[in-house]
Amino acid sequence: MARLTAFPAFHKVSGRTVLIVGSGAAAAAKARLLGETEAQLLIVAEDPSGELLADAARVGAELRRVRFESGHLDGVALAFAATEDEAEDHRVAAAARAVRVPVNVVDRPELCDFTTPAIVNRAPLAVAIGTDGAAPVLARHVRARIEAMLAPELGRLTTLAESLRAVVANVLPIGEARRRFWAKLFDGPVAARALSGDAAAARAEAIRMMSAEPDVSGYVWLVGAGPGAVDLLTLRAQRILQEADVIVHDALVPDDVIAMGRRDARRVSVGKRKGAHEATQAEIGEILVREAKAGQRVVRLKGGDPLVFGRAGEEMAALAAAGVPHEIVPGVTAAFAAAAAARAPLTLRGLSSSLVFATGHDLDGRTLPDWAGLALGGATVAVYMGRSVAGAVAERLAEAGLASDTPVAAVENASRTDETIFTGTLRDLPALAERGDVTGPVLILIGRALAEAQALGAAPIVPETARRTSAA
Ligand code: SAH
Repeated sequence: MARLTAFPAFHKVSGRTVLIVGSGAAAAAKARLLGETEAQLLIVAEDPSGELLADAARVGAELRRVRFESGHLDGVALAFAATEDEAEDHRVAAAARAVRVPVNVVDRPELCDFTTPAIVNRAPLAVAIGTDGAAPVLARHVRARIEAMLAPELGRLTTLAESLRAVVANVLPIGEARRRFWAKLFDGPVAARALSGDAAAARAEAIRMMSAEPDVSGYVWLVGAGPGAVDLLTLRAQRILQEADVIVHDALVPDDVIAMGRRDARRVSVGKRKGAHEATQAEIGEILVREAKAGQRVVRLKGGDPLVFGRAGEEMAALAAAGVPHEIVPGVTAAFAAAAAARAPLTLRGLSSSLVFATGHDLDGRTLPDWAGLALGGATVAVYMGRSVAGAVAERLAEAGLASDTPVAAVENASRTDETIFTGTLRDLPALAERGDVTGPVLILIGRALAEAQALGAAPIVPETARRTSAA
């Protein structure tokens, strides 16, 4: 194993003075970094820049507008030379070393007693990443990845653990029982509650876990999987997928998104797959409740956003009725992916100031949908589940008085590798339902704002062949 030239350690600075010498950007960067700690910051700056003044004020640092002298090192825990002037940095480093104050000199590893890591701050939890000074940019890359892995609220869990230490020491014998308790604490319903911000419930659950009969109630997350592209999953969805024991998903969620889950998690498909049994909404509710009651942490993965035509309402009602704790994780809804694909604004100053999420599915042939009026008023309409009823949608809107040359964009498989964009007008829309080559999920956007679409590689809604036939 290669050996490290430096030993990573956490230096206590709470209530102690940390000195930063310098007036410019390097000093300001250090002020921001140290501002994440409880250290008392002393900044010695002969000629502070505006940036440094602002950062110093923001982190509550004391700023002295004088030249550095060794007296500034009195009682200092750590010193940073950030003057961006070689001779001056040397002078600071020598003075610090003379009084045995550990010193860091910005961009001069050879003069440093210690280097500063890239930090992921989930106080009181911290992750420090260093490369022995060899590749700070790499350290920042690693940091970005760790940032994505750790919930912003992870500190709450650490705080909870800290608050439980004394109780645990009293109640649980050292060894296996205690170890098991902690493992369960960080990876179970207690963690889910602490992370969701309910500290009291988390603590109550933890105390219950210590007693002879632990409560094994699970947890359910209703998670939006986004429109299909794996990297449109939210960071939160990714993290929760790593935690879940069971993943209950629709057919609309692509395999590579489902694959983001823990390898050993159980996958349950409840969606429409040709030939397979499609679970009813009531059955889905029962599955979620049953798994949670068995102590499982369940992700209910839904295409797009769970609260947009996702029937999350019924599932939340079933969970609430059974007393199963649950939360919602939003996702990128199909309308946003389709608009992005067509590079079309959904709202446009002066032209379209509202956006309607509508479905083409419940048009019963007679009544005008209530959103037709909104479209007339200039709203952009995003029609979900509209492919097979595109003709009826167009007809109802035309009846309502919407101009037949109103721009339309329809996006099939938005955000996926097989994405296809069609553009045209309301007059063309019925042709969409007649095309045999459009079989994936389609989102239809209708409205004046679509005239601004910068769609690249879009095909006409009415295929060329059909045009020729109708012209003949
Ligand atoms: N909750 C989902 C919508 C579920 S309804 C969401 O927020 O996106 C299913 C409909 O969503 C489909 O009929 C289609 O109209 C639309 N849809 C879902 N994914 C899509 C995609 N990748 N491209 C185009 N439309 C999509």
